[in-house]
Amino acid sequence: METTKDIKKTPVRRLRFFGDPILTTPTAEEKFDDPNRLNIQIGRMVDAMYRYGGVGLAANQVGYENQVCVFDTTLIEDEVKGNFDDGNVLVMINPKLSDQTQPVLVDEGCLSFPGIDIRIHRPESVKATYQDVDGTEQEITATSVFSQAVCHEIEHLEGKLFIQKLSHNQRSFLKGKLRKIKKLSEMVYIRM
Ligand SMILES: [Zn+2]
Repeated sequence: METTKDIKKTPVRRLRFFGDPILTTPTAEEKFDDPNRLNIQIGRMVDAMYRYGGVGLAANQVGYENQVCVFDTTLIEDEVKGNFDDGNVLVMINPKLSDQTQPVLVDEGCLSFPGIDIRIHRPESVKATYQDVDGTEQEITATSVFSQAVCHEIEHLEGKLFIQKLSHNQRSFLKGKLRKIKKLSEMVYIRM
């Protein structure tokens, strides 16, 4: 368990909200040129994922600009083995979808869109290739919520947002809420 001391030691990365340009900018390929930098980044992403309560988190949601995403395997029904730290976290670097089944309707939220849950289509199952922390090529099959999370995080890394899957009408229905979230992203971040 994390203690107050740990929290003081490493400030949690600020979550980026809809309206922040980093969320609509495609991230760059991770080149594995600095293992130490990568390890620190992943540790901070994991902290943030736990703190904000996400099933997954993409690098650009907390201000990084490379193709890294993390998943909390304890929140996923698939028997997924973690590959980082205590084994509860799966890290995917430079992930790409290699196969997918027919889409089904699911409910979905996003940490960068607080208070918004939408119904969209996601494949029931996907295959994805990625590299682990050592740069070794891996492939994984994900179903159900995990499939949804993999698609969601890969789209983040491509600079895409889940609301882009909505029709113009559906989106205008959310206008008020979206405006409020945009204000959050424009606020100067001051905490005391
Ligand atoms: Zn998201």
